[in-house]
Amino acid sequence: MDELTEEQVAALVRRLEERVASLQTSIRDHLAQLRDVSAPGHDSTPPGDIVDQADAGLQRDEQNDAMSRETIEMQEIALAFDRLSTGQANVCIDCGEPIGFQRLLAQPTATRCVACQDDSERGEFLKARGNRNQNGIGTAR
Ligand SMILES: [Zn+2]
Repeated sequence: MDELTEEQVAALVRRLEERVASLQTSIRDHLAQLRDVSAPGHDSTPPGDIVDQADAGLQRDEQNDAMSRETIEMQEIALAFDRLSTGQANVCIDCGEPIGFQRLLAQPTATRCVACQDDSERGEFLKARGNRNQNGIGTAR
């Protein structure tokens, strides 16, 4: 099996650490913005202004969405660190074949080789289509 060299592991760790740093910054920003939005009204805004409230709610939703995406990525990164520490970082979770280093460098949180990733995305796509349209798709194999 192709194992990653120390240099390759170090490069991936660096990538992941950079990503963590930038995620932490943006999560902090989002938290700060959420605090601003949720803060009791400014003096210039009459309390109970319905448009402002709706606006604040919308902003809050967007911040929450962004934060949940960032949290998920943090979890993926933690998983990638785990995989690096056990020497499994370049092993496809589906077929066990090595994942190319270039692919890992581009996407250090990747857990599948290109072929399996394609399969998995196509599977999800077909599933999504199958749910909408019950006839035909998925019967042929
Ligand atoms: Zn694979």
